[in-house]
Amino acid sequence: MSVRLRFAPSPTGALHIGSVRTILYNYLFARQRGGTLVLRIEDTDRERLVTGAIDSIYDGLHWLGISWDEGPREGGPHVPYVQSERLPLYQRHAAELVAKGAAYYCFCSKERLAELRKQQEARHELTRYDRHCRNIPAAEAAERAKTESHTVRLKVPDEGTLAIDDLVHGRIEWQANTIEDQVLLKSDGFPTYHLAVVVDDRVMGITHIMRGEEWIASVPKHLLIYRAFGWEVPPMAHVPDVQGPDGKKLSKRHGSTAVSEFKEQGYLPEALVNFLALIGWSPGTEEEVFSMDDLIRVWRIEKVQRGGAKWDKDRLDYFNGVWIRRLPEDELVRRLRAFVPPQWDDDLLRKVVPLIRERMKTLAEAKDQIAFLFTETPEYPPSLAVPKQQSAGTTVEALSRAASALRDARPFDARSVESALRGVADGWSVREFTHAVRVAVTGRTIGPPLFESIELLGRERTLQRIERAQSALRG
Ligand code: GLU
Repeated sequence: MSVRLRFAPSPTGALHIGSVRTILYNYLFARQRGGTLVLRIEDTDRERLVTGAIDSIYDGLHWLGISWDEGPREGGPHVPYVQSERLPLYQRHAAELVAKGAAYYCFCSKERLAELRKQQEARHELTRYDRHCRNIPAAEAAERAKTESHTVRLKVPDEGTLAIDDLVHGRIEWQANTIEDQVLLKSDGFPTYHLAVVVDDRVMGITHIMRGEEWIASVPKHLLIYRAFGWEVPPMAHVPDVQGPDGKKLSKRHGSTAVSEFKEQGYLPEALVNFLALIGWSPGTEEEVFSMDDLIRVWRIEKVQRGGAKWDKDRLDYFNGVWIRRLPEDELVRRLRAFVPPQWDDDLLRKVVPLIRERMKTLAEAKDQIAFLFTETPEYPPSLAVPKQQSAGTTVEALSRAASALRDARPFDARSVESALRGVADGWSVREFTHAVRVAVTGRTIGPPLFESIELLGRERTLQRIERAQSALRG
């Protein structure tokens, strides 16, 4: 049997990196079994909708290289794939349960429910619906439902055990009597998440439900709904939530969480995928660099861990460096283009990339490091230029020695630049000397290797900059 998996994001904000990890696992599971992936938009909570959220889901997943087969914009055998466009389906199903005697109309007002809650809280009881409308005779309830505002509630049995054998967590059990007569259909005709998710997973033929572990608490409610319909429960896997360094669920408090932010900061999709796959999953070997295709081959649901899914920014940076170095040079140049001004010369960019790729952590940080090559007059901060043991005066002299050595260097390439400069350090340490030259030429204390940079800059421009630095130092 071919597997069918779904991602079911709610469009409540920018695509969150933690949701992406769950989506990625669904993707890997489905793709390695030649199955089908469905994107379903769960937008029944109308108060939390955020405009643009669906675009952000599409943009983020496409950028990461995660594809799917059926969805709101792709179409498929179960259109529409947006829950708010499927209301009649849920209403029909709720009515079916009422007709079977498995659910009932509830006419309690918001005020009554709030009052009930208040009383229960005051008595330190579990707050739950008191089944006030459960025993209204069916015919009377049906009649009232024609004119009175109502919800549909599930008739939850008083006893019994509910259980799943979760593919990640193993067996989990609940007692039915801990669940209230939950609302299935709200008074505005919208389903609750619980009804919608169960109905859709069923009618869309979903064979495996894989989602974040925050949904475990909802599972007993879902099991009762499956039972009420007489449907079989598909296997479920609840993957551990991605946690921030403090052990709390990863959120904005911990820094960036939107996929778009990582893109803007110059992370490669390859690095994010690699990094995310390893949060809460391990191949069981030392190997750690995986492309999407590798992951489709080696990822196993059995190896998803129950906990310890920690976000680690340094590790992400590490993977980004790894993937930057894995990109063919042309491709790296192409991707860098989005992070540098359009007028920057392509040839020069091509030449400087090999100099910086070894130490590059993000695409975005490259720009400042190499800007000195593309701008006529980079800033010169004299305060950075003078080494500790030196003065402005001695730095001017050192720069004079550098200038005259560079004037004579033949050919003007990194090797001769290096030996020219080393030859005139005199009383200075080579480190101090090259530091002073670097700041004079690039305006910065760190950057690509100096001698190669000077070669790229050319004699003329290098000498001009040294002269400019000297006049700045003279004040
Ligand atoms: N709509 C839920 C979310 O936004 C997903 C629930 C599920 O996968 O069952 O995370």
